[in-house]
Amino acid sequence: MSLSEKYNKITPEILEELKSIVGPDNMATDESAIEAYSCDESGKVYARMPDVVVKPENTQQVSNVMRLANREMIPVTARGAGSGIAGGAIPIKGGILLSLERMNRVLEIDRINRVAVVEPGVVTNDLCQMVLKEGLMYAGYPMSTETSFIGGNIATNAGGAKVIRYGSTRRHVLGIEVVLPTGDVLELGGRIRKQTWGYDLLQIIIGSEGTLGVVTKAILNLEPAPGDTVTFLAPFPSIEEAVEAVAAILRAGVVLMACEFMDQLSTKCATQYHNTTFPMQDEAKAFLIIQVEGQTPEQLDMYIEKVGETCLEHGAMEVFTAESSTESRNIWKVRESFAEAVRAVDPNASLSGDMVVPMPKISEMVKAVGETARKYDITIALGGHIADGNIHPLFFKPDRIPLEEWPDFVENIVDELIGVAISLGGVGSGEHGVGFLKKHTFMKYEAKSKLEVMRGIKRAFDPNGILNPGKLFD
Ligand SMILES: Cc1cc2nc3c(=O)[nH]c(=O)nc-3n(C[C@H](O)[C@H](O)[C@H](O)COP(=O)(O)OP(=O)(O)OC[C@H]3O[C@@H](n4cnc5c(N)ncnc54)[C@H](O)[C@@H]3O)c2cc1C
Repeated sequence: MSLSEKYNKITPEILEELKSIVGPDNMATDESAIEAYSCDESGKVYARMPDVVVKPENTQQVSNVMRLANREMIPVTARGAGSGIAGGAIPIKGGILLSLERMNRVLEIDRINRVAVVEPGVVTNDLCQMVLKEGLMYAGYPMSTETSFIGGNIATNAGGAKVIRYGSTRRHVLGIEVVLPTGDVLELGGRIRKQTWGYDLLQIIIGSEGTLGVVTKAILNLEPAPGDTVTFLAPFPSIEEAVEAVAAILRAGVVLMACEFMDQLSTKCATQYHNTTFPMQDEAKAFLIIQVEGQTPEQLDMYIEKVGETCLEHGAMEVFTAESSTESRNIWKVRESFAEAVRAVDPNASLSGDMVVPMPKISEMVKAVGETARKYDITIALGGHIADGNIHPLFFKPDRIPLEEWPDFVENIVDELIGVAISLGGVGSGEHGVGFLKKHTFMKYEAKSKLEVMRGIKRAFDPNGILNPGKLFD
């Protein structure tokens, strides 16, 4: 039986029941109101309409929606801000789109335990700014921080610029409340920082891309707010030299807060987007954007000297230091928006490249991207989180490829590049996830035995397969 055949259609009676669960104001079926929920940032070309959008306001409502969907065999797709790039939040089997946007409260900032308790619809940057006022830091920092939700970050195990120092979202989540597809509510983890207490279900939910349960609350670790930081901008004549410089900075014992790179094309798109320029952007083939933090003024001075020296020793054409927090913010804005900037140049550009390889293999991976661009005669802009081996090739759609052929064309290229990443000891996604865009590639390269274990886990959480069907391996 095909997936779509096993699901039932939403009847007027089911719609009435849904309305009584979430209230008439929190449900929509009009095409104009639900269209915005048909795709994420992977692009409109992948859009699929849900039958109904519901916006529950509390855990009980989420649980009641899931119970109803499970009883009636209706597919449900959870959605955060829809900033995902793997198609994870696209309701590809129709049914119920469950948006967490109304569950957006920061419930508590517990200074003694250094945790924040939040609902899933809190925007990542709002939490960061709120806890900063208390002298604390939430260390999750995807480049989409101003739009993405905490629930989406947990479901994708989001990474970003600060992973080199603080790890990805997984490291910041101490506990969650999760509603299973059956409607049962589980509390996993808590305000504690260690446990050996049975299988760690919390870690299975994190990064499961909304296929095992709906996260309705999270207890997040907070770090002390950082001391003084300095941002550097270093142009290099080649990406290879930039990669060497990063490895040398890490060997020199500098504790990096963040370390990002952009090639010439992505730099030009992003500076143009902000109506600014980076120094030497016509000559430099790559830029490093580095941030260091010093616990003391002496330590900061030492790091400033080491970063500057090491970059110059490894071929940097110059090393610029941001003179103020505004200058630093302006540099980071350029990096944060390089994907948006590429989309501004080409609305059909694909953002789906997210390979991660061991750090010493980055140059080989970058070389493979260049060869691929030549082989397929396409333009690829490149950037990423260089210190953790995570690169984002962004693909411009050539005019000669018709729009309807573009998804297959570009997914084939991404598949090939993922093959290279795997042969170099890496994986196909460092942070965006598998979603449905990389599903075939995931199934092609993953060991059958591993997929079987994953399917067993899926069955245990979601016996009827109603939650986010058509994603990962389904
Ligand atoms: C310009 C740009 C830059 C980006 N930079 C980064 C980056 O640096 N690092 C990074 O990791 N990602 C990045 N992303 C990708 C994206 O922002 C992240 O994947 C983010 O974590 C998605 O959050 P969201 O709230 O938008 O989730 P959505 O896109 O709405 O959903 C993503 C997945 O999570 C599931 N989901 C959402 N909420 C819940 C919930 N409460 N419970 C269960 N499942 C849920 C969905 O079903 C879906 O599978 C970027 C995207 C853009 C457009």
